[in-house]
Amino acid sequence: MRSLPYFCRGTVIRGFGRGSKELGIPTANFPDSVVEHLPADISTGIYYGWACVGNGDIYKMVMSIGWNPYYKNTKKSMETHVIHTFKEDFYGQILSVVMVGYIRPERSFNSLEALIAAINNDIEEAKVKLELPEHIKLKEDNFFTSAPSTSTSSTATPKTIMNGH
Ligand code: ADP
Ligand code: MG
Repeated sequence: MRSLPYFCRGTVIRGFGRGSKELGIPTANFPDSVVEHLPADISTGIYYGWACVGNGDIYKMVMSIGWNPYYKNTKKSMETHVIHTFKEDFYGQILSVVMVGYIRPERSFNSLEALIAAINNDIEEAKVKLELPEHIKLKEDNFFTSAPSTSTSSTATPKTIMNGH
């Protein structure tokens, strides 16, 4: 995928309540404005990379890009699970991510247990792959240090800063 690594950021919005948090794997959803900017060669599936909330610490992440059932599967969604335990939810805050690599395509599972097991495998794979020196380098990219701290100011529109930042 030529567009990787891919940098983007946007305000965290409410998802469609598929209960990711109940599975122990909350996924922060990006607004349509971010999803619509995705380059055409970024296909649906599971990705790994780095993420940071506001101007907080940078953590490993896994992201699912899939077809959004809310729009009858005509639009994509981007959902990021940050590999960190946060004290509080961060709806309305700016999430900055860099997608670094691709793990696998989307697929359906026969049971919830199988789905959870697959996601946990994705998380393990992300943790290992991101230790490669060329991937650690991206964690130190200026993109993250230039992250805005909040999106709650009166002028805030869902902010998206794309590759070529
Ligand atoms: P929704 O359907 O609204 O996306 P989820 O059950 O997927 O609900 O929970 C996602 C929310 O959980 C995020 O928007 C964020 O505010 C919060 N959250 C807490 N910890 C994490 C985490 N480690 N990764 C992603 N989101 C998290
Ligand atoms: Mg979610």
